[in-house]
Amino acid sequence: MTAPHTLLKAWNLRARKELGQNFLTEPTLAEKIVDLAGIGPDDAVLEIGAGLGAMTLAAGRRTQRLVAVEKDTQLVPLLRAELLAQGLSQVQVRQQDILKLDLGLLSAEMGQPLTVIGNLPYNISSQVVVKLVTERAAVRRAALMFQKELAERLIAGPGGKDYGRLSVLLGYCADLKMLREIRADMFFPKPKVGSAVLEIVFKPVIEPRVGDEALMVRVVQAAFGQRRKTLRNALAGGMPQLGGQGALAVLTQAGIDPMRRAETLSVNEFVRLTDTVEKYLRG
Ligand code: SAM
Repeated sequence: MTAPHTLLKAWNLRARKELGQNFLTEPTLAEKIVDLAGIGPDDAVLEIGAGLGAMTLAAGRRTQRLVAVEKDTQLVPLLRAELLAQGLSQVQVRQQDILKLDLGLLSAEMGQPLTVIGNLPYNISSQVVVKLVTERAAVRRAALMFQKELAERLIAGPGGKDYGRLSVLLGYCADLKMLREIRADMFFPKPKVGSAVLEIVFKPVIEPRVGDEALMVRVVQAAFGQRRKTLRNALAGGMPQLGGQGALAVLTQAGIDPMRRAETLSVNEFVRLTDTVEKYLRG
């Protein structure tokens, strides 16, 4: 693999900050990350944000079935040329915004649930997490690189400032593991903060399961929307259909002290609260 700054210069391109472009500089590190993702020859793999192909080349040597999505129209011909030069013409490069890709359709096309890999553009990482959670029927597992602070928030448990909306949503439906931390100087251009690779494996069976997942997303959003407020006030403000009285009623019925704050609630308590809100709204 040619060094990112050399490759960009040869194609008369620059790294684009607005697309979160921080390219891995060490091919051996890209190999290690792809190893951690545990890709087998029969896996159907989706790479998000292929960039100059550091991970694409490594993953393309491990599976015949790799779809690499990249939004930047200028990088796509470069990426295709690199893959061709390495004899990896079976890799499908698609110029596309990952947020607009239907994972269900891709998984149906590839004949099995997807293994998702990627060094995510930091500006859409949270949206990608929500997308994976929402479309998880199409995903077997994911090994993704995040800014370290975000990775820490995703795996956080209740009781601290890192625990938030995404920790609850992921904790509900997935098992998470921190696979590796990566220093900022392993990227070009060098970002201000380090990164971390997280493994996300969606649970085949969720226990306890919430009745209405979309409602749980709204409840969690409202609770953390004003995280310094008591749950009663946060829910009343974030869910106008409940109002102050409704918020007090559902919290009491769910056996949750209305004076607590969102960050103290376990995932199971959020499940119980959502089921209670659902019953309340049904009347
Ligand atoms: N995988 C490469 C690597 O590790 O060197 C590049 C990683 S870079 C952090 C993120 C990549 O995602 C960039 O190439 C960027 O152009 C691409 N990207 C940004 N937004 C995207 C989007 N919405 N959909 C698909 N790709 C996107």
